[in-house]
Amino acid sequence: MIWNDEFETLPREAIESLQCKRLRQTLERVNATVPFYREHFRRSGVSPEQLKTLEDLRRFPFTLKQDMRDNYPYGLFAVPLEQIVRIHASSGTTGKPTVVGYTRRDIDTWSELMARSFVAAGAHKGDVIHNAYGYGLFTGGLGAHYGAERLGASVIPMSGGNTKKQIMIMQDFGSTVLTCTPSYSLFLAESVAEMGLDIRDFKLRIGIFGAEPWSEKMRDEIEAKLNLKAIDIYGLSEILGPGVAIECYEAQNGLHMWEDHFLPEIINPDTGEVLPDGERGELVITTITKEGIPLIRYRTRDITRLIAEPCICGRTHKRIERLSGRSDDMLIIRGVNVFPSQIESILINIEGVEPHYQLIVDREENLDSLEVQVEVNERTFSDEIKVLQELSNRIRKEIKDLLGVTCKVRLVEPKTLARSEGKAKRVIDNRPQL
Ligand SMILES: [Zn+2]
Repeated sequence: MIWNDEFETLPREAIESLQCKRLRQTLERVNATVPFYREHFRRSGVSPEQLKTLEDLRRFPFTLKQDMRDNYPYGLFAVPLEQIVRIHASSGTTGKPTVVGYTRRDIDTWSELMARSFVAAGAHKGDVIHNAYGYGLFTGGLGAHYGAERLGASVIPMSGGNTKKQIMIMQDFGSTVLTCTPSYSLFLAESVAEMGLDIRDFKLRIGIFGAEPWSEKMRDEIEAKLNLKAIDIYGLSEILGPGVAIECYEAQNGLHMWEDHFLPEIINPDTGEVLPDGERGELVITTITKEGIPLIRYRTRDITRLIAEPCICGRTHKRIERLSGRSDDMLIIRGVNVFPSQIESILINIEGVEPHYQLIVDREENLDSLEVQVEVNERTFSDEIKVLQELSNRIRKEIKDLLGVTCKVRLVEPKTLARSEGKAKRVIDNRPQL
């Protein structure tokens, strides 16, 4: 099923000519209304008139998260505040949050793109959508909510937390679609089992999970434990919120980015050079219809590649490969690049180990150290010391073989690591900041 046949299946040429037109209008608008961009373009010696083809975008400068912080809170808005009907913000790990504003038309576009995303994921009118994304400044809750209403499904505005109640409602209300972070979905699955309930008595058939990177192995685990089809959704508040890209139910292979609203590029994160389709690098997005806060060549820090090949679902929009991590999340341990998701995919393949782990990074005598704390299941934990020793040796060896990093492994009892009701906290970096 396709929500918007006209736009989702546009021939390639038509998409690109629409993008070019919208891009040119966006550049003109930000140049006229946002002093930051006027100055930014002037310093780079470019002006909107110079954009004749999509390739010309490469001459324009990037926008960084830091630029949003420097213009906190409203400095990058392209319309006066009277036209902004909603404000969201993403929590920064340090300092001030990143603020975004939506006009009435932006909210309308967002609802449309989330409705498209729900349908691409296999949801339809008549579904009961259990929305466990947080409602609040975070875009997840309201973004999914408006899309579900636009679709005409019955949305339950659960928000995060209160897990036992979530489960009761999910069962009693007959929820068919679950939306939350992948780590929270596993926590829900675990709690269902703990409460002595059988997941087969629930009506869940689709889960739409995003807001943190997750692996293919974790998908298998979620699908098995929650008895549903798990779909990956991508979004970030700076660009829109959820609904920038989503996997289709048919292929579950790469996430279609709604190219009539967003222009994706992949760059080499070190040099800024644009890479051809198919090559892996940092995702850069330009919004081409947003009114409140249009962003030009925004560096997402997400690592992926563009898939231009046609998809079996009939949608013509390019796909991004499932994220292999954020360049921000990347840890550098003794000079080696390590993504938490790489360690996760190792752990999830090992019998007796649970998908709950934490990486503790520290510095001892000027050398980085990594400790991997991982939960083992009940049965393994009650095994002989020798068995546990062998298990931790095996994990250490696999991490060393695959990532080239030496680490300590600490096996912990089931349910000792803190559970998160939002994004999982996988890394604790205790190294002194330079
Ligand atoms: Zn598809």
